[in-house]
Amino acid sequence: MELALNQFLDREAGGSSVYLSAPVNALMKGIYRERTTIAEVKKHGDFGLGTFNSLDGEMMLLDSVAYQLRTDGIASVVAENVRTPFACAAFFNPLSVEEVQSEMDYAAFKALLGRLIPSNNLFLAIRVDGEFRRIKMWSVAAQLDQRPIEQVHPVPFEFYEVKGTLAGFFTPQFMKDLCMPGFHLHFLSDDHSHGGHLLECVVKRARIGVQLISHLELDLPATFDYLTAELT
Ligand SMILES: [Zn+2]
Repeated sequence: MELALNQFLDREAGGSSVYLSAPVNALMKGIYRERTTIAEVKKHGDFGLGTFNSLDGEMMLLDSVAYQLRTDGIASVVAENVRTPFACAAFFNPLSVEEVQSEMDYAAFKALLGRLIPSNNLFLAIRVDGEFRRIKMWSVAAQLDQRPIEQVHPVPFEFYEVKGTLAGFFTPQFMKDLCMPGFHLHFLSDDHSHGGHLLECVVKRARIGVQLISHLELDLPATFDYLTAELT
């Protein structure tokens, strides 16, 4: 852990940034439509996650391609002009890579991720390429109104014996109004056909890359709904 922090401090001169297209609390207050396009998000990263206007599925950005992950678990490539109310992106460049060769249930996997965090006070980008015995995810169907997020019910689904990639971030607790705190990971299968927002998984083997991020770039949306919202 100290080694990871020292490596990070040595490299920090050219430190990497995480980009947030909006503070997530706007989404939590029911602002589900913004102007930011996928093309704009990609200017700030080749890796990331988020959602789409009207919460029309989960978004994953992997190797510069954006995917829409719908409630049927099907993934499809997204056009550049599609818009998002919330996206988080970075240029992925891991500081450390950890290999896992033995099967791990979700509790063990989460504990391992926890051990790979050298500090709770930085953003981390995390990429897990692996094979999963079971993976449980969810996605959200498009919302036609601006109902509060508590009344939005994501649809869970599971896949078995699948290879693929988890991509996402660790966000410090004190940034919870800007981005979901703790770990937030989305999954895409190796054949790019299926994916969703990770709920739990059983890992058979994995390669876990971790990037420490010390800069935050935050856009504040220029829309009427956002500017007149009560974001206390
Ligand atoms: Zn998600």
